[in-house]
Amino acid sequence: MIRMVDLKTQYENMREEIDRAVLEVIASTEYINGTAVKRFQAELEEYLQVKHVIPCANGTDALQIAMMALELKPGDEVIVPAFTYVATAEVIALLGLTPVMVDVYPDSFNINVEQARAAITPRTRAIVPVHLFGQSADMEPILQMAQQHNLYVIEDNAQATGSDYCFSDGECRKTGTMGHIGCTSFFPSKNLGCYGDGGAMMTHDDDLAQRLRMVANHGQNQLYHHAVIGVNSRLDSIQAAVLSVKLKRLDQYNANRRRAADYYDAAFGDMPQLKIPTRSANTTHVFHQYTLVLREGNRDALKQHLAERGIPAMVYYPIPLYKQQAFARYWAGGELPVTEQLCRSVISLPMHSELTLEQQDQIVEGVRSFFA
Ligand SMILES: *Cc1c(COP(=O)(O)O)cnc(C)c1O
Repeated sequence: MIRMVDLKTQYENMREEIDRAVLEVIASTEYINGTAVKRFQAELEEYLQVKHVIPCANGTDALQIAMMALELKPGDEVIVPAFTYVATAEVIALLGLTPVMVDVYPDSFNINVEQARAAITPRTRAIVPVHLFGQSADMEPILQMAQQHNLYVIEDNAQATGSDYCFSDGECRKTGTMGHIGCTSFFPSKNLGCYGDGGAMMTHDDDLAQRLRMVANHGQNQLYHHAVIGVNSRLDSIQAAVLSVKLKRLDQYNANRRRAADYYDAAFGDMPQLKIPTRSANTTHVFHQYTLVLREGNRDALKQHLAERGIPAMVYYPIPLYKQQAFARYWAGGELPVTEQLCRSVISLPMHSELTLEQQDQIVEGVRSFFA
């Protein structure tokens, strides 16, 4: 059976190890902030080569806690791409901050740095580059711009765990570890996913790490002493135990995704009706999604055509953020042309670490027959 994401086959391939890890936590009764959480935190710090990983309950919380820890105040403006998942901008609005939505590049789908620069005002305090679909936003000019204008950089790394970004001096870093704070999600379908909800924040800054921990834990700086208004956001030990098992396999999972993407690229590369995903030169694409852009033909008709053949496909994302009813008050009107174009023409095919060549042949045939 072809699935967008095949967590069932993935689990079956490591069932014994997962079951043992989960049962160990149950027997330990350390369900919250237990040994398993501390172990996973240290393992992820080592993998990402970052000084601090602060686990939390989900990726949306990670973004919210990051903005709370940076003490952003109502009225402060935060620049975000208009082509992203709602969570990125939602937490900004929730905290009374103002999301300022800008366009993305047509090739990488990531935030357009010049448009972000043009959107800076005296009230701008932060920018949230999203590493969309598995490759890094162009962090070097973003970090330079942020430094020039005194902005915080909060990376939304929910879709790109394991991706590298290389600077012009040759230094490479993991996405999520380049800004002041990186945020990620361990939602089951992400590249590194658990069996429920989970998330984390990353930072090299000791003071910021302490603040993030404090905000995530009811603003508490010592037991029953609450220095700031915080939230309750924890990664539970069972999820951490699952994540430890899967982190060991993350590079292999991402390599499998890249191999599947290579196969799609070869199959679709010669079709004038389709644009295959562009791989930016200075980042490794970990293909959270494999997203085609239709140059001709009706995208929704293609989705329907595939569905009739038992092939799932998804549209990430069909509506620009600024056209969502909830965000109407943050938009003065007009359109961002690239975001509009992408919302009309993108389609994501099944992409996961267990995709077989047989399944991919079937998917390729399904797509090709639509244009035949
Ligand atoms: C999944 C995702 C989030 C939110 O993660 P949750 O764990 O579901 O809260 C945020 N941003 C992006 C880009 C995502 O893909």
